[in-house]
Amino acid sequence: MRKGLSLFGRLLTVFLAVILCSVSVLFFVTYINIRDNYVQNRMNALKGQARDMAYLASRLNSDTLSRALGRTSTTEQYMKWKADRVYKEYNAYIIVVERSGAQRTYYNESTLADESLQYLPSQEEIASYLTRVMQGEEIVLQTASARGPLFTVIVPWTQENILTNQQTVLGLVMIQTAAQTVHAAYRGLAWQMAVVAVGMFLITALIVFFLTRQLTRPLTAMADAAGSMARGDFAARAPEGGSREIKELAGAFNQMAAQLSTLEQSRREFVANVSHELRSPITSIQGFAQGMLDGTIPQENHEQYLQVVVDETHRLSKLINNLLNLSRMESEDTSLAYSDFDVNELARRVIISRVAQLEEKNLELDADFEEDACFVHADSDQIQQVIINLLDNAIKYTPENGKITLRSRQEKDIVYFRVKDNGIGILPEDSLHIFDRFYKADKAHTVGKGTGLGLAICKRIMEKHGQSIRLISGEGGAEFEITLAAGKPAAGNNHNPGAGKD
Ligand code: ADP
Repeated sequence: MRKGLSLFGRLLTVFLAVILCSVSVLFFVTYINIRDNYVQNRMNALKGQARDMAYLASRLNSDTLSRALGRTSTTEQYMKWKADRVYKEYNAYIIVVERSGAQRTYYNESTLADESLQYLPSQEEIASYLTRVMQGEEIVLQTASARGPLFTVIVPWTQENILTNQQTVLGLVMIQTAAQTVHAAYRGLAWQMAVVAVGMFLITALIVFFLTRQLTRPLTAMADAAGSMARGDFAARAPEGGSREIKELAGAFNQMAAQLSTLEQSRREFVANVSHELRSPITSIQGFAQGMLDGTIPQENHEQYLQVVVDETHRLSKLINNLLNLSRMESEDTSLAYSDFDVNELARRVIISRVAQLEEKNLELDADFEEDACFVHADSDQIQQVIINLLDNAIKYTPENGKITLRSRQEKDIVYFRVKDNGIGILPEDSLHIFDRFYKADKAHTVGKGTGLGLAICKRIMEKHGQSIRLISGEGGAEFEITLAAGKPAAGNNHNPGAGKD
């Protein structure tokens, strides 16, 4: 079972938390803005109404005739009508207070019936309002009352003195409304906003859910594929879909999986080949030794069979040496001992070490060196191994009286060294595989002779040098070429590459 929160879970949680925070902040900021704006507008509208009322009140004093007749003046009637309108429209009531403090309230019957609005300020409160209003101030208040908070707007009620042309404050006009009626108006809006906010959150959450799943699904598939590979299933591959980066990652993963699969395949083949190569000499050694012991092989033939046993042990030891060489070359930390040396001189020493074999087959050897000395920069022991392997192959695959040519030439910074023979040659279909480990071409009929590791070792050595080895196609025989970095003939260089070893 997988422990901990998955990448999908983590991403989704983070995204949803961010979205929730943003939506909440957006909602509250908008809500507070709308609320403040709404209250401000309502207060301004009430202020306007209060000013109208103050204007009407200022005209009351001039309606003296109507009063004298004991009739309600037109202005007074208009004021009552206005108070009625304000109540209907704003659910607010109007109090007009004279400077003396005598209170005159204008409200209609319905206002009286509305208990929440039956709040009348005390004489002290009115006195304090009057003091502020006398200085021409307009007041907006939120006050607490027994029936809940109230919004109050107070404006001065002035009259112009015809003689002095100055405004005299006669009293104040106060409009009061229960805060809850103002709040109720925008609360409905707040609910609508909350529904929109929740809807927005749900839609974005859904989109984020699908996007996150789309993003993490290839990663989960890749993790599954990696798990399968860890359990030994090298055929597992990750789907190459999704965003560009994920596609690239899946591509790289699959490439790595393919390489691992090839590596695993070649590891298995290698183990099978090594076992096979070891088994045949051991079987024949065992068979001949047993035959000599139990008398199946007559005494007079012992020498002949002992020679076979010795040959087989030589082959075994050569195989094991080659395997060790190869594994040494393949280990990354084997460093090369670079030096500048004369490759022609090195080749001459290798030839000397192989004189017996050359004479045995009566092979002609031509050392076609462009210059007397040809300096290269490389690991001389390793290059000697390459030349030995190439020359041994040329001797092995060239019939008696054949010809072998060693050639060196320099072009700018590169030295080309070739080993050519006029032996059995290599078929084009074999040429693709001769550098593979344990590959032996059928045409060579060398089963029981070579190990199939010589050229693989050569290739690895040249790769380690950052150089190349190739088979040059041509008619009659085989020709191999290696490249080497040109070296400097050091002053008094009497570097003496070691004598041939096998
Ligand atoms: P082996 O120990 O079998 O020679 P190598 O890796 O050196 O292994 O060579 C691989 C195969 O390449 C040989 O089995 C042989 O078939 C072919 N080969 C190599 N060199 C030559 C050559 N000079 N002429 C013909 N065939 C060659």
